[in-house]
Amino acid sequence: MANSIKIKSLKEQSEESDGFRILIARYRPRYLPKYKENWEQWCKDLAPSRCLWKDYLKDKKIDWAEYVRRFVLEIKNNPEAVEALSTLASTPDNDDEGCHQQHNKYCLSAKYETVTLLCHCIDDKYCHGSLVKAMIEELREQVLAHKK
Ligand SMILES: [Zn+2]
Repeated sequence: MANSIKIKSLKEQSEESDGFRILIARYRPRYLPKYKENWEQWCKDLAPSRCLWKDYLKDKKIDWAEYVRRFVLEIKNNPEAVEALSTLASTPDNDDEGCHQQHNKYCLSAKYETVTLLCHCIDDKYCHGSLVKAMIEELREQVLAHKK
């Protein structure tokens, strides 16, 4: 995988140093015309479900701790999300394991120095992006430990 993972708001300028940009939100930004899309991939599987998103961000029925708890559960129970995470965590030399299938759209990310996770949130402290980043980093440590 890439050496570093950044989290950015969609409102921030994209930079060369962002590397592989992935939108991890449930919705694409409405204000942005399709031809101006500036991400390599859109991964809805790494976004909260509509229901969770609504409870936390819209209706404010649950707090951050509960949001984290439910988000982690959603990811763990979604095979597509697990696959996306493990590909993003794989290192170039174990690419073959994660990337033997051509359809795996995240394979490309291993060729970049940096992966940038994009979300609508301005404050990445209370954004699921920080959780996704932590999950990828944790997985990567397991991958590296395994190789020793
Ligand atoms: Zn967010």
